[in-house]
Amino acid sequence: MRTLNATMLRICLRLALFVLAVPLLAHASLPSSSNVPGGVAVVALGSALTGADKPQTWLGGQPVLVTSDHDEWYAVVGLPLDMTPGSHELSVKIGGETKAQPFVVNPKDYPEQHVTLKDKSKVELSAADLARAEREISAIKELKHHWRPAQDTDLAFIVPAEGKLAGRFGLRRFFNGEPRSPHAGLDVAVASGTPVKASAKGQVLAVGDYFFNGKTVFVDHGNGLITMYCHLERIDVRIGEMVSKGQLLGLSGKTGRATGPHLHWSVVLNGAMVDPELFIPAKEKSIAAVDEQERRVK
Ligand SMILES: [Zn+2]
Repeated sequence: MRTLNATMLRICLRLALFVLAVPLLAHASLPSSSNVPGGVAVVALGSALTGADKPQTWLGGQPVLVTSDHDEWYAVVGLPLDMTPGSHELSVKIGGETKAQPFVVNPKDYPEQHVTLKDKSKVELSAADLARAEREISAIKELKHHWRPAQDTDLAFIVPAEGKLAGRFGLRRFFNGEPRSPHAGLDVAVASGTPVKASAKGQVLAVGDYFFNGKTVFVDHGNGLITMYCHLERIDVRIGEMVSKGQLLGLSGKTGRATGPHLHWSVVLNGAMVDPELFIPAKEKSIAAVDEQERRVK
């Protein structure tokens, strides 16, 4: 009886160890690597086998997300749209030593988009609107550089609303013929009142009502990965709230500077606005496309 108990205990211990070890061994789903301005560079940093320290990485002075996949450490680096193509380097600290890890950024020509806006008040801002917009832009900039260390960050996103992927990331926009800042997000074509969900688990970093972005929710997924959901009609979450993947954040709308109802969804990585499509697994994207087809048939 004693031996049986001892055996049982050993089995239980092994099971417990196995359960504990699984999250450590789990393979993170890396985003698609795209070494272009507005893209994400996935840079291998060496073995992540037991005993190997997790490296710390910086781009400029900004900390960069590090994750493991198939026993390798990777830096997942957000590349700003205005980054100069050519050779760049990360600062990598492993086991007390700091070294430079070079990587290359290739040029990319994003397509142009010309928009005609009849409401000139949204193109030519009054002094008061301009002052408000500038204040908000610097507040948003600070939010985008927020860093919350987290054990793990889910890098496989769901599309936050059911609709066709419309205005793509990086479009070089012209409003009434005048060049504007490029489109730093992805538009999902949805009617007002469509549920908008968290693309992955995280913590609500901020909610606000902004001149350009309208009612907006910021979700911090940890380690410098932040998503923004803009032009909402209604917000259903509060600052500091933990949200799970797919949890309702609010309803879509057309608040702020929007030509019509849609969801503007942005992804920020180490302070850089990057292409959200790089975080959507191929399977998830095809579901969004099928949904749109079904809607058209109805
Ligand atoms: Zn947009």
